[in-house]
Amino acid sequence: MTFAYALIAAMVTQAPTGLSPAERAAYQGVREATIREITTTLASPAMEGRGTGQLGGQRAAEYLAARMRQFGLQPAGDSGSYLQRIDFVSAAVLPTSSLTAGEARLVYRDDFLVAGRVTGDSLDVSGGVVFVGYGVDLSGLDLQGRLAVLLQGKPATADSMWERTVNPRAVVQALVRGGAAALLILPDPAGPAFTVYAQYLTRRGVRLADTETAPQPPVVYVSEAGVGKLAAGLSEAIAQARAGSAAARDLGVTVQLAVRAKVERVSGSNVVGVLRGGDPKLAGQAVLYSAHYDAYGIENGTVYPGAADNALGAAMMLAAGEVLATEPRPRRSVIFLAVTGEEYGLHGARHWAQHPTWPIDSVAANFNYDGIGTETYGPVTQVVGWGGEYSDLGAVMRGVVTATGNSVAPDPFPEENVFYRSDHYAFVQRGVPALMLLGAPADTTWVRRAKAWLEGGDYHQPGDSVRASWNWSGPRTLAATGLLIGLRVANADVMPAWLPGAPFRRR
Ligand SMILES: [Zn+2]
Repeated sequence: MTFAYALIAAMVTQAPTGLSPAERAAYQGVREATIREITTTLASPAMEGRGTGQLGGQRAAEYLAARMRQFGLQPAGDSGSYLQRIDFVSAAVLPTSSLTAGEARLVYRDDFLVAGRVTGDSLDVSGGVVFVGYGVDLSGLDLQGRLAVLLQGKPATADSMWERTVNPRAVVQALVRGGAAALLILPDPAGPAFTVYAQYLTRRGVRLADTETAPQPPVVYVSEAGVGKLAAGLSEAIAQARAGSAAARDLGVTVQLAVRAKVERVSGSNVVGVLRGGDPKLAGQAVLYSAHYDAYGIENGTVYPGAADNALGAAMMLAAGEVLATEPRPRRSVIFLAVTGEEYGLHGARHWAQHPTWPIDSVAANFNYDGIGTETYGPVTQVVGWGGEYSDLGAVMRGVVTATGNSVAPDPFPEENVFYRSDHYAFVQRGVPALMLLGAPADTTWVRRAKAWLEGGDYHQPGDSVRASWNWSGPRTLAATGLLIGLRVANADVMPAWLPGAPFRRR
């Protein structure tokens, strides 16, 4: 028993045959200077945070296209160009928006925020207020033309049955079907602080123009402070509902909501380059590298440079392209896709997945970079590959990582659901096996440091800039690792498959 187990363990951990001479050349060919230069340029003031649909975003797209051309990649965007144009709707809520209840005036940003799909520059709603608790029991409530106050989260009495049967999306749909003119939502006290909602909801929202639907009732987030101003008795009703009592009631007050916004149609671009495969039988299939190049752009004069997230990822991806273009051609083609609109919901990737500039059924695999800067903490010796457990790509990754003397680390943030939160997921939904790659140093503090950065650090803030302390060999190692994983897939006899039992499938 012990012996057999030890034998198997030895087989699993045994280093594979190592790297071929061609692989070693490719691995060593990835240039740290390229990664540094592209990252620094993308995060520079001239790029103005590469906002989706903003001038800086377009400038970045043109810069990336120029680098692709320089590296020898062929254009694979619209009609012979590197760019794939995407139409967006941008909506910025203005601080002149107001919410009043009788004499009381709620303060924009401190007391309330406008969320949801804002479709016009001016929208006024006036009506009575109905408290609906968690929205589970709407019987006997007249919602028609009224503003419904809804709690997010769950009551103290919620059991597993409650969790299974109450679907927040269905609750909102039922309120809209019931005729609610607006939703006033109190965020879950167990969730992010209201100030965190304020950081995001006071920025522009950007959505794909071709997914526009009929206008929906406005959605407003109200803080605990704002609740006190809305209606006498509301705080008490909320406390009852949170304790698990049925507390839905008409509050007997009328409120006026005035949403003021700047809504405009804008356009942006994905940037796509391809290196044609060398095997005539397999060149119609492609390995797809992706990384988003957008950050939050400029908001009210403040630039969000998005250096770690994700100028660095775009640079790591392109550094692989620079090497590949000079090496013997892999059998399959290799696509490099820099996408826009990621921060607002993977828009650029979703657009490419719906309007692919390469037949998506012939995309063998996707490798995505979406960084939080862990590669710069020091020399990379550990690699995380989200999605590796679902497809053959996990084994390919383990082979490459082991052969290069590094190790595969488990998901450091299982609670963050990372696999569902970046561009690769748009391709996964179209059936393409994918890996999202992250690198980290050998020390044990990097997970804590990364979490601190995500929760209250420079993540999605104006402070996400290139630092003098960054170790650039780390990104080089991850880019080279990703390159070899992609090369092995590009040269394999068959395309990688989803593992049996994986919740995804090729079309
Ligand atoms: Zn990102």
